[in-house]
Amino acid sequence: MELPGGCLCGGTRYVLKSRPFALIDCHCIDCRRSAGAPYVQWGSVPRQDLVVTKGEPRKIAYADRIRSFAACCGTHLFFEDTKDSEVIDVTIASLDDPAPFAPGKVGWLEVKLQWVVIDEPLPYLPKSRTLRNQHYLDVRRYAESLSYKAS
Ligand SMILES: [Zn+2]
Ligand SMILES: [Zn+2]
Repeated sequence: MELPGGCLCGGTRYVLKSRPFALIDCHCIDCRRSAGAPYVQWGSVPRQDLVVTKGEPRKIAYADRIRSFAACCGTHLFFEDTKDSEVIDVTIASLDDPAPFAPGKVGWLEVKLQWVVIDEPLPYLPKSRTLRNQHYLDVRRYAESLSYKAS
């Protein structure tokens, strides 16, 4: 399987070799600001299932996580907890066809902008005690709750 995606201008392209899981709308302030958007939808893939086929994403370390942006035009593409983490998160909206990947959960409702209307029945991941690595922990917890196996 190959799910292609890329940046706004086409200078950075990637393919996913498996379907993204742990689909979550993240309303956290870091995601918001990084994308210049009210929230960001993420999906996770095993690291080896993400292949950059064109361009060189620019990695930005911030708040102990690594966010990758297309060096050509700035599109936010990936999120890693560490450079060795087992999974990488991908911005679902950067896929050529995001339509099949509706969010399954929402995170960080505590800081959601009031005018963002969410689908209330979506399960909500409660905020953990540590702010650090929150996004990653949420995604991992969700993946574990699905008993996801990378194989
Ligand atoms: Zn986030
Ligand atoms: Zn670009």
